Amino acid sequence: MYCRNCGNGLEQGAYVCMKCGVPAGQGREFCPNCGAKTDVNAVFCVSCGVSFVPPPQQYNQGYPEQKSKLVAALLAFFLGVYGAHNFYLGYNSKAVTQLLLALLGGVFTCGLSTTAVAIWVIVEAVQLLTGSIAVDANGYPLKNDF
Ligand SMILES: [Zn+2]
Ligand SMILES: [Zn+2]
Repeated sequence: MYCRNCGNGLEQGAYVCMKCGVPAGQGREFCPNCGAKTDVNAVFCVSCGVSFVPPPQQYNQGYPEQKSKLVAALLAFFLGVYGAHNFYLGYNSKAVTQLLLALLGGVFTCGLSTTAVAIWVIVEAVQLLTGSIAVDANGYPLKNDF
């Protein structure tokens, strides 16, 4: 096993490269299998033929904390007009739009825009529950926890 960043030989199971400090498996300059220098965009090693595409499980483990679908749906039902579920999922511009429409817009439209946001949010809550909204703002799948 070799460091993908600097090509230094790594012990089996090492987490970081002792030479450059980069976590094992990160970097794109060298083949982790034979240590040959590779093209940064290569998907396999031209020297030994090993694939650089990580297996699916490893990819799953690389997710930051998955957002909970249940929490997002509850936020949508109870605080949705303030954009709470969109803030939670990282859709910040949509969340701010909902918040402004509900608070400021409501003042100028005698609550009409608040009602509009409420309908919008109910649609989104249903989309969350039915799986139409299945990823957060970073494209990571939501945790199916209800
Ligand atoms: Zn290294
Ligand atoms: Zn190789």
